[in-house]
Amino acid sequence: MRANIELDVGRKTFASGLLTELIAALRQSRPGDLVAVVGDEQSIGPELETWSRFTGNPLLEAKAENGRTRWVFRCGAVPASAEERRPVGSRLWLYTNFDCNLHCDYCCVRSSPTAPRRELGLERVRRIAREAAELGVQEIFVTGGEPFLLEDIGDILLACSTAAPTTVLTNGMLFAGRRLESLRPLPRDRIVLQISLDSPTADLHDLHRGPGTWTRTREGIQRARTLGFRVRLAATVSTDVEADQFRHFLDQEEIAPEDRVIRRIALRGAATDGVALSRSDLVPEVTITAEGVYWHPVGAEDADLLVTRDIFPLSESFAAVRHAFEREGEHANKLARIFNCA
Ligand code: SF4
Repeated sequence: MRANIELDVGRKTFASGLLTELIAALRQSRPGDLVAVVGDEQSIGPELETWSRFTGNPLLEAKAENGRTRWVFRCGAVPASAEERRPVGSRLWLYTNFDCNLHCDYCCVRSSPTAPRRELGLERVRRIAREAAELGVQEIFVTGGEPFLLEDIGDILLACSTAAPTTVLTNGMLFAGRRLESLRPLPRDRIVLQISLDSPTADLHDLHRGPGTWTRTREGIQRARTLGFRVRLAATVSTDVEADQFRHFLDQEEIAPEDRVIRRIALRGAATDGVALSRSDLVPEVTITAEGVYWHPVGAEDADLLVTRDIFPLSESFAAVRHAFEREGEHANKLARIFNCA
């Protein structure tokens, strides 16, 4: 993980000057910057972790390299949003396949045309949908890689939308032939197409997603609208300036607020830059892949976000996520109490 500041602390510990070095590094940093601490004393790890939790600078990674250890923490917490107050289990994410017709350079799960297909499969999706409805899931999100690569995506979406209102995330480039046909029977009042479009013009979108993709996505958006689907536009951006430009474009296009998603690139998967996110930054949104149940869709193949390999019964896998969330919250509170000074 690349850091903004590399701090070589040698043999220093908290008893011998490490804290001063950390404070100096924080003073040079902006919120969101990454600071790497490289040291010879592996034993400072637990104290460093405690310090990072206590001060709200989350520890993201610890790696041993050539007899030394390198810890990376982020300056400051990710700002809380209203969405984080959503109850755990109200949203359910399904990764249907992982392969994709595109190879975006920031894809958080490394999807691409050569990524092996890891398919949930229609029968498993049907069972998930049945059990999700019983558990009171409010919204289902279906993502791929690119879900419209699947022959039976129409049936998958029908099963999901019977259980709860469903949003399918797509790059919108495959709406032709049988794939276009698979859209026709879907209920317009239960299914939203969330189509990725990163910029008002082709340059930035094509830079991340490949030449010609912006134009084809625009065509896909038009086709989906012509078929009567509600389309939500979702941009992945690197800077505030890019976000503002896209917002301006959405205003011009008269896109309703509820049909806009603008998010930062997450430093996960194929991304080499972006917002570094640890498990403790993310309120869980139960995410199911062929490999198991994950904490959040943003890292749905990363070991640190795996909760359980057992998908069924869904009531138990949901309970496992909730339990882990409560346990980890308690841990944070306990650390805060340990550091209570009076
Ligand atoms: S970001 Fe989306 S469109 Fe791009 S490779 Fe990943 S899954 Fe495919």
